[in-house]
Amino acid sequence: MARTWTNWARDQRCAPERIERPAGEAELARIVAGAGRVKVVGSGHSFTDIACTDGVMVELSRMNRVLAVEGNEATVEAGITLHELGPQLAERGLAMENQGDVDPQTVAGAISTATHGTGGSFRNLSAQMTRLRLVTAAGEAIELREGDELLAGRVSLGALGAVSAVTLRCVPAFTIHRVDEPRPLDDVLARFDELVDANDHFELFVFPYTRTALTLTSQRTGREPRPPGALRAFVRDVLLENAVLELACRAGRRFPSAIPAMNRGVTALMSRAEHLDASHRVYANRRSVRFTEMEYAIPRERVAEALERVMALIERRRLAVGFPIEVRVVAPDDGLLSTAHGRPTGYIAVHQYRGMEFESYFRAVEAIMDEYGGRPHWGKRHYQSAATLRPRYPGWDRFQAVRDRLDPGRKFENDYLRRVLG
Ligand SMILES: Cc1cc2nc3c(=O)[nH]c(=O)nc-3n(C[C@H](O)[C@H](O)[C@H](O)COP(=O)(O)OP(=O)(O)OC[C@H]3O[C@@H](n4cnc5c(N)ncnc54)[C@H](O)[C@@H]3O)c2cc1C
Repeated sequence: MARTWTNWARDQRCAPERIERPAGEAELARIVAGAGRVKVVGSGHSFTDIACTDGVMVELSRMNRVLAVEGNEATVEAGITLHELGPQLAERGLAMENQGDVDPQTVAGAISTATHGTGGSFRNLSAQMTRLRLVTAAGEAIELREGDELLAGRVSLGALGAVSAVTLRCVPAFTIHRVDEPRPLDDVLARFDELVDANDHFELFVFPYTRTALTLTSQRTGREPRPPGALRAFVRDVLLENAVLELACRAGRRFPSAIPAMNRGVTALMSRAEHLDASHRVYANRRSVRFTEMEYAIPRERVAEALERVMALIERRRLAVGFPIEVRVVAPDDGLLSTAHGRPTGYIAVHQYRGMEFESYFRAVEAIMDEYGGRPHWGKRHYQSAATLRPRYPGWDRFQAVRDRLDPGRKFENDYLRRVLG
């Protein structure tokens, strides 16, 4: 009987024909050549059915090696996770230029969906890629290194082929000094651009029904890292950040009408914290509370206004939302399907705790984001289709032309790709 595959959030399931775990590119190529329909899966950290298939699922946990490091370029097998990669780059005096807020994702999975961190002058992870090795539908390994093939390969949604290796442009290893502190939301939004520009990385969280934001401001520095002791890290990351949130979320699911008061209570508990550590350790937060998420990329200059509209929507409709809204920014890039393609971008992410109704909330937020030409994160929930997405991406037709060349028979297609790419 087919084994069921489930994503991290445990809300996407599929029953692949079989699951293969190749140990290298040649074996991957044989699997692809012999399969009718194939989907390569990363760590299952997408909230959509983007990685689901009823064909052959290929999982690359055995393809997780660093293959070569030349100067500041590292070539890695596609299945290596960001968590595995960070220390191995650090041993060689290198680091990724920027990362998202967790690190279990595979490198190929992260770049395929335009996974991003935050920072007004830093681009998303796919922009750090200089070359890509890909097994095409015919089972042939090719390298994408320039032109539209590279620009399409940056953010490919898994639609072009099975990525076997990725070359990343890294930077010298660095330390991050991060300060987390509660501040009045009105001040933060009034000074949003100033805060983004004054810090290497800036992001904020705000609980609905409150007017206090938790801001995370980071500077890159040459100072020596001071990792927290195991006990302090456990108390801060496991007990305070995750256990308190889990308890509040469970209580909110049971007593939704108490959510506004509980959000105010959790906000009152927020306090100042400092981190001074190697970049890969500061970026990666622990997330054990399971939730689902939608995130939209909109022009950066509209972020404060759009966030206020989302907060007002929740209050007006009395939506039961006990999870904070997250706001981040990135620099423009050139990936044809990158959510930050060609514009300084602000991201607004909304979440809902597992087991709670999210669709009416997410659809209402999406309607707001539509007014800003919003582009949904490819790995997070949304209700768009190829028809609504095409006008939001100037490079859409160029991506489709590359796809037609590399996968004319749609061997790498699944339900999600049929919906979003047509
Ligand atoms: C707790 C949590 C925190 C998150 N934080 C962030 C964040 O800070 N920033 C952000 O932008 N996103 C974030 N995400 C979303 C996440 O980064 C993306 O969904 C990412 O794509 C997940 O990577 P993965 O390895 O799990 O890939 P999957 O979800 O398994 O796959 C994603 C896509 O990549 C394709 N793919 C994977 N490997 C290959 C390959 N070798 N060849 C071809 N295609 C491939 C799959 O087919 C699929 O289309 C978060 C998700 C969770 C659950």
